[in-house]
Amino acid sequence: MVPLSSEERFKNIEHNLTVIRQKIAFAARESGRKPEDVKLMAVTKTVEPIFINHAIECGIDLIGENKVQEFLSKKPYLKLDGCEAHLIGHLQTNKVRQIVSEVSMIQSVDSIKLAKEISKRSQALGITTECLIEVNIGDEESKTGLDLALLMNTIEEISVLPSVKIKGLMTIPPICDDDAQLSQYFYKMHEIFVDIKGKKIDNIDMSILSMGMSGDYEAAVRHGSNLVRVGSAIFGPRLY
Ligand SMILES: *Cc1c(COP(=O)(O)O)cnc(C)c1O
Repeated sequence: MVPLSSEERFKNIEHNLTVIRQKIAFAARESGRKPEDVKLMAVTKTVEPIFINHAIECGIDLIGENKVQEFLSKKPYLKLDGCEAHLIGHLQTNKVRQIVSEVSMIQSVDSIKLAKEISKRSQALGITTECLIEVNIGDEESKTGLDLALLMNTIEEISVLPSVKIKGLMTIPPICDDDAQLSQYFYKMHEIFVDIKGKKIDNIDMSILSMGMSGDYEAAVRHGSNLVRVGSAIFGPRLY
């Protein structure tokens, strides 16, 4: 296969963003919300800075990266004026120091130990770090994210840490070919989100429900997601 030229890739990114925005708007209306109530994140792992910058020029104001090292090495080349960056990949405690203050949110908090380290490092810098709690909605053995059984206790423990602020929940559902099954995971996540929001726990602001990726963002939005994380549908398949 002949690789695409940069020009062709720029055009594709522009086109893809237009289509994705239309689909999100449609799904948002279907679920009784306004298109602007759903945030589109461009997931930029493995994508080179020139293409990320092009997406930003096309109006992207939120990007997501998985790996601390990859993000920090690309960051000097990114035109992040008016664009936020979130960490969405699994974070090891020993990398917290490097990433706190470099991103505006960590979406992948899945243990009290990690939250404590984020709080400690944030406090040392005199900042508060916004976080999402990652939920293992499919209860998969191999998956990152908090098990449902531990969710409420962990959230309550994190809520009292001085320098982290919980802003909502994030999930990556199990891979499934069955749309009905997938919808059930999204449905359950939304239920949990609404349930925790209703508890009005001090220092918790349950406002973000981050779910939906390239293959399933429309379904996620129909089920109440208000932040979708879309990578390959914007930038094309990832080349590792
Ligand atoms: C890679 C990734 C995405 C985006 O995946 P696509 O299928 O390319 O849209 C979303 N969320 C997380 C946590 C990811 O690692």
